[in-house]
Amino acid sequence: MPEIRSGAEYKAKGWSLGNLTVEQISVGLLDTNCYILMDEDVTEGYIIDPGGQAGRIVQHAESLKLKCLGILCTHGHFDHIGAVGKVAELLEAPVMISKNDAGYLDGSMKRIGIKMSSFIARNPSSIDRVGGGDEVAFGDYRARVLDTPGHTPGSISFLCENNLFCGDLIFKGSVGRTDLKGSSTEDLLESIRREVLSLPDDYRIWPGHGPATTVGKERRSNPYLENL
Ligand SMILES: [Zn+2]
Repeated sequence: MPEIRSGAEYKAKGWSLGNLTVEQISVGLLDTNCYILMDEDVTEGYIIDPGGQAGRIVQHAESLKLKCLGILCTHGHFDHIGAVGKVAELLEAPVMISKNDAGYLDGSMKRIGIKMSSFIARNPSSIDRVGGGDEVAFGDYRARVLDTPGHTPGSISFLCENNLFCGDLIFKGSVGRTDLKGSSTEDLLESIRREVLSLPDDYRIWPGHGPATTVGKERRSNPYLENL
């Protein structure tokens, strides 16, 4: 069973998170990173990309006493939204996704690859469309929505203080796939150039798969960014 890596572990590595709680829960068949982002003081926050294993996510959220204000979706691929419906229902939370990827959730957009209906436990009842410049607030914090298309047309990222939750935009040493229907390599690289490389080196990147990294580390060593 893949692990839950708590923000405390990253704090131990010297990452100051202030009063932010960041919990990284690896879920589903593709080890997608689901995140719980919370203000420790008031225990308000959001769940990002509940891709599978709703029960496990909700259980962990409850152990943190999370008052879940919403579910944030970086994009609409099944491995990131697989448990959205169920988690939204159990926590009575609204779901936020971009306009261009909302079709993955409400069933109007054809899902990639094999028949995915078995992975989508339930379609959420209320979906809010969000886009670049929108903000969600929780406790003393805010997370800003960034438009970061490329991996999917409606991929978005969430920037909270110096933490970037970017779905499948960029990974430690790699970038998101662009060989899928609706993907664009050009758009993906432009999104990284505009929204990631413009950030200071010490900003943290919390990707949709694999370990967290920093903007500086990727700027220096990610081979896909060499010509950006
Ligand atoms: Zn994806």
